[in-house]
Amino acid sequence: MENLRATDPEIADAVRNETRRQGAQLELIASENFVSEAVLEALGTTFTNKYAEGYPGRRYYGGCEFADVAERLAIERVKKLFGCDHANVQPHSGAQANTSVYLATLKPGDGILGMNLSHGGHLTHGHPLNFSGKYFTVSAYGVRKEDERLDYDELARLANEKRPKMVVVGASAYPRQIDFARVRAAADQVGALVMADIAHIAGLVATGLHPSPVPHCQFVTSTTHKTLRGPRGGLAMSTAEWAKELDKAVFPGVQGGPLVHVIAAKAVAFAEALRPDFADYQRQVLSNAKVLAATLQGEGFRLVSGGTDNHLVLVDVFAKGVTGKVAEHALDKAGITVNKNTIPFDTNSPMVGSGIRLGTPALTTRGMKEAEMEQIGRFIARALAAVENETELSAVRRDVSTLCERFPLYAARLAAYERSLAAV
Ligand SMILES: *Cc1c(COP(=O)(O)O)cnc(C)c1O
Repeated sequence: MENLRATDPEIADAVRNETRRQGAQLELIASENFVSEAVLEALGTTFTNKYAEGYPGRRYYGGCEFADVAERLAIERVKKLFGCDHANVQPHSGAQANTSVYLATLKPGDGILGMNLSHGGHLTHGHPLNFSGKYFTVSAYGVRKEDERLDYDELARLANEKRPKMVVVGASAYPRQIDFARVRAAADQVGALVMADIAHIAGLVATGLHPSPVPHCQFVTSTTHKTLRGPRGGLAMSTAEWAKELDKAVFPGVQGGPLVHVIAAKAVAFAEALRPDFADYQRQVLSNAKVLAATLQGEGFRLVSGGTDNHLVLVDVFAKGVTGKVAEHALDKAGITVNKNTIPFDTNSPMVGSGIRLGTPALTTRGMKEAEMEQIGRFIARALAAVENETELSAVRRDVSTLCERFPLYAARLAAYERSLAAV
């Protein structure tokens, strides 16, 4: 990073420190992952200079022949990964992908039926603070109190009662499989469209480890940076009949010029996801989540829904007398990065929360397996039993560092940064 160091030493320093941080802590945020060096290389390319409004073969700017190559490859690979009729790889984020689908299908005031945010849904599914909650008439389904699993009967009942134009399904903090066929059946009763938002589980869907929504939904949206392990960005898929409307909604409806360097990096990540070792990786993500869940249960923690079928675990820490906020803070001091989360029927406010959300995608990318998950489950239990004991939290942190050193992350890159900054 010689040029960066010379031009802007403060940013160079922050980049180095962030790279150190990522390797020195245990990253359990369920929505994060570590991209490959190939993806990072694609991101830092001259494609960042290019305006390419429009789509391959029909752009509003000249000089797009290589941008077309990148975008066509990305689209082709998404279609292979998910078996969809149509894909748009331009959304800058998951939120933009969802916005585009709404713009393609709804008018202000139309009804949408989405999952309750406090039961695991997402802001863009109709939260009052999000544009989706301000522009549409929102009703929400959730999980059952008894088993904390999606209440498909309630969903069907609400669909009949509210007659929404669109049913939105998908979650940010739901540890179980989703039955997309059942959602479609409920929507069909009232002629509603279905958008499945697989932001979290896209990597599992792409490898057949979670049932695919593609055969059941007119629209499927995703991020590219969670289990799919690509650059930060979004993705929208549709059936053939909605292809034109979807493309018009992404551009010029919601966005201007696409981020061509990010699209190139998405193409690289999709190529990686098509390789057999990506399925091995996703299987390990699932196995790691199961072992982490079992270890925490063994330590006396209550898990929302009693376990996990996917890459994440939602732990009810309040059942052990610690709020989500305090737990997040204590784990941070112990070198374990998680986020506090509400749990279904939470009695604490969203800023406090009764739970923490843990995901295994990032640590699995680092090469950690079942034995490390058991170790980490015990680290978490130790830290949460000592949230006010600085000495014990420091002791856990030392054990965390020892574990992290066995699984180097971006080692060559970090060494180059260190050399470069030391040379000042
Ligand atoms: C993460 C997430 C999003 C939003 O993705 P951004 O890229 O942060 O905009 C949308 N929906 C769900 C279900 C998510 O988990």
